[in-house]
Amino acid sequence: MISTQNTDIIPENWYNVVPDLPEPMPPPRDNDMHKSSIELLNRILPKKVIEQEFTFKKYERIPDEVIELYEQIGRPTPLVRAKNLERYLNYKGKIYYKFEGATVTGSHKINTAIPQAYYAANEGIKEVTTETGAGQWGTATALASSMNGMKSKVFMVNVSYQQKPLRKTVMNLYGSEVVPSPSPLTPTGRKFLSDSPNHPGSLGIAISEAVEYALENNIRYLLGSVMNSVITHQSIIGLETQKQLEIAGEEAEVLIGCVGGGSNFGGFVFPIIRDGKERTIISSTAREVPKFSKGKYKYDYVDNAGILPSIKMYSLGSDFVPESIYAGGLRYHGASPSLSLLVKNGTVKSEEIGEKQVIEALRVFANTQGIVAAPESGHALASAINYVKSNQGERKTIVVNVSGHGLLDMSIFNRG
Ligand SMILES: *Cc1c(COP(=O)(O)O)cnc(C)c1O
Repeated sequence: MISTQNTDIIPENWYNVVPDLPEPMPPPRDNDMHKSSIELLNRILPKKVIEQEFTFKKYERIPDEVIELYEQIGRPTPLVRAKNLERYLNYKGKIYYKFEGATVTGSHKINTAIPQAYYAANEGIKEVTTETGAGQWGTATALASSMNGMKSKVFMVNVSYQQKPLRKTVMNLYGSEVVPSPSPLTPTGRKFLSDSPNHPGSLGIAISEAVEYALENNIRYLLGSVMNSVITHQSIIGLETQKQLEIAGEEAEVLIGCVGGGSNFGGFVFPIIRDGKERTIISSTAREVPKFSKGKYKYDYVDNAGILPSIKMYSLGSDFVPESIYAGGLRYHGASPSLSLLVKNGTVKSEEIGEKQVIEALRVFANTQGIVAAPESGHALASAINYVKSNQGERKTIVVNVSGHGLLDMSIFNRG
């Protein structure tokens, strides 16, 4: 095939961090709200995804069909040296950014939506479902299912459905049916609607609805973040970055990314730190969702109905209700078990960033590099700027993951 993309950069295998962790990762387990949640996974997830959730294999072959789809949606994504940002900050070292906003759906979420949809379609499934809050995950699911010849239904948290009509339009355009949640389609939705017909909804309710809908219709449910199989699929980000750095003759000395459930961060960082070299690794979270500083490291519910198995992670509690920050993707109460473990043992540092500083970082990045980054990614950029300002004499090479673009989230600039 003749292509002008440098597709050699796309790896042949995904990387699973589990066997390389400093201590065994506590596995998902049943919880008291739901005694058979592990068993339930078998009914709603594609078989291959379950296998990847519990495997100890370090590498997982990426199917050829998935590689081809990765090429179609814009992989490899660029790794760019941010020279104008370096000059603006008067930094004597180098700053690179990996740009996941360059995929056709505008964020890293498509990296896992594609294999999950592919595995479902391979098992003869004709329809998939999921939930979405801010909209990026629903958008990725919508496209990935169309590309694999399946229908999709997305339960979108009602407030977002009302506030982000463009997101709904994009999902419809990609062939998805979008339902505001709570909806009349499921027992959980009907329960909340009867209490309050204009219920704003929540991610927890939307997850419950998608799972119930999948069970009732014998279709499959796709996972957006947190679970280990998702982090493995997202390793494509770090594996590509590593090859791109090699080509540029660079060594990453400081790695920075933002954390909602931990999937773009883990996918970006884990493959690079495989070699065990000394590095500074910073995970950037929202000040309003202080999971690593105020959360507890414990087994907790993934969703607030406790339908999915519990996992051991830093968590603010599944009933945690954050302030309405703009970066919807960072509102999640926990973070993936592998990342939680590495934060606990000190390998990964964490930093909390407030919204004002995020808006400023987004402005600086737009001004210097021309990219309108997603509000979530703005946290990582703010952490990078902080790092440079507090280490002015240094000449280290910093690599930041910019998880998405913010062209559908521009109203954040009317707030600050
Ligand atoms: C969903 C999302 C996040 C947060 O999710 P993670 O699983 O932590 O990566 C961050 N950035 C963007 C652009 C997102 O869409």
